[in-house]
Amino acid sequence: MIKVVKFGGSSLANAEQFRKVVDIIRSDEDRRFVIPSAPGKRFSGDEKVTDMLYDVFRLYEEGKDFTDRLAAIRERYEEIRSAFDVPVDLEREFETIAENIRSGAGRDYVASRGEYLNGRLLAAILGFEFVDPAEIIVFHEDGQFNMAATDKVLPPRVKQLKNAVIPGFYGADTTGRVVTFSRGGSDVTGSIIAREVNADLYENWTDVSGFLVTDPHIVENPEKISIITYREMRELSYMGASVLHEDAIFPLRSEGIPVNIRNTNEPEDPGTMIVETTCSKPKYTITGIGGKKGFVSVTVEKDMMNSEIGFGRRLLQVFEEAGLSFEHTPSGIDTFCVYVNQEDFEKHEQQVISGIHKAVNPDLVELESDLALIAVVGRGMKANFGTAGRIFAALSHARVNVKMIDQGSSELNIIIGVQNRDFETAIRAIYDIFVLTQL
Ligand code: ASP
Repeated sequence: MIKVVKFGGSSLANAEQFRKVVDIIRSDEDRRFVIPSAPGKRFSGDEKVTDMLYDVFRLYEEGKDFTDRLAAIRERYEEIRSAFDVPVDLEREFETIAENIRSGAGRDYVASRGEYLNGRLLAAILGFEFVDPAEIIVFHEDGQFNMAATDKVLPPRVKQLKNAVIPGFYGADTTGRVVTFSRGGSDVTGSIIAREVNADLYENWTDVSGFLVTDPHIVENPEKISIITYREMRELSYMGASVLHEDAIFPLRSEGIPVNIRNTNEPEDPGTMIVETTCSKPKYTITGIGGKKGFVSVTVEKDMMNSEIGFGRRLLQVFEEAGLSFEHTPSGIDTFCVYVNQEDFEKHEQQVISGIHKAVNPDLVELESDLALIAVVGRGMKANFGTAGRIFAALSHARVNVKMIDQGSSELNIIIGVQNRDFETAIRAIYDIFVLTQL
C-alpha cells in the first residue's frame, strides 16, 4: 500500500511537533512519501515562517536590511535541528538564500524556502531521500501548473524510491525559476504526488480531527463527520468550511484517491475520510451544515417576464459585465432574483442597476441586503423523505423568517436564505433537529 502524507504548518511548527510527526510516519511503513509545509504558528499570535519570508522579500525590495529578519527565521529551524541533532548545514543554507535574494531570485523563491528547509530537516531526521520539487513539479511560464510536463518528469524520479520527503507549495518553470502555488498550496503538492505515484490513500495531517458537522463557533462541540464525498465537501467548502485547498481536489478526485484528514495532536483519532462515492449512510441524514453571511438579493420584476425569451441571459450578462459571480437565482413567473456577495456588489451597485434597466427594461428592481445563505448538505437526503419538512419546522420553531429556498437538483443540498441576524439561530435549530434529537 502506498500512502502519501502531508503535514501542515502547525504540525511542523517546532521540535515538539516534529517529534509527533516523526512518530506518526515511523508507525506505518506505508507512509512512504512525505510532504511538509513550512513551520506554522506555535501559539496564537505567533508568525508563520512563510509570512516572515514574504516580509524578508518586501524588505529586500524596499532596499532595506533583511538580515535580522532572516536570522529570526533561522532560529526557528535551529531549534528543530538541534533537538534532533541532524547534520543539516543551516549556516550554509541561509548564506545561499541571502545570496540568491541579492542576485534577484524572486518572491516565490523566497517564500518556497520555508518548505524547502523543513523538507531538508525532516528527510535528515527520517533517513528518507530528499527530492526537490523544483525538479519534478513543473509550471508554465505564466505561473500555471503544468500537469502534462509534471506527468513526464515526476514518476520516473519518484516512483522507484522506497520513501522520500518532497516539500510542498512550490515547483519550477522550464527555465528553472521557482514558482509557488497559492497560499496553503502544500495540499496541492500532496495531491499531485498522490496522483503521480498512484497512492492508495492521501493523508492530510493538520490540527483538527477532520470536518465537523457545523461551525464550532456557532454550535458548541459539534459532532465530527466520519465520511464525506467530494461533492458534499464542495457544497460545504464554498459555504466557508475548508480543510483542504480547493486545487487539491481535482488530482485526487480524478483518480478516485481517498483523502483522510487527520489530527497530528490526536493521532489515534480516525479523522474524516473524503471519498468519491460511498454506500455508507451518514449518521444523521444530513452530512453537514455550512453557511455564509453578507449577501444581497436583487429582485427584478416585469410583467409577462416568463414569455420573454432571453430575459435571464440578458439579466445575468449585466452581472457578468460587472465582474460579479452570482450564488443563486430563484425565480417566479414575473420575478427573477439574483443573490450576490454584498461586498462585491456594493462596489458595482449603480452600474448593475442601470445595466438592468438597459438590458431588460424592468417594472421594478428591489434590493435586500444583509442576507445569509445556509447550505444543508447530505447524500442521505435523496433516500429520505421529510428532510425539508424537518428543516423548516425547526426554523419556524426558532422563529426564523425564511427568505429563500433552493433545493439543488442533485438533492444533495438545500440552500436557505435568512437575514444575517438569524444566521446563528437558524444553524443551531437545524443542527438540533438532525443531530441532537436524531430525528
Ligand atoms: N507555507 C505555505 C503557506 O503558508 C503553504 C502551506 O502551508 O501549505 O501558505
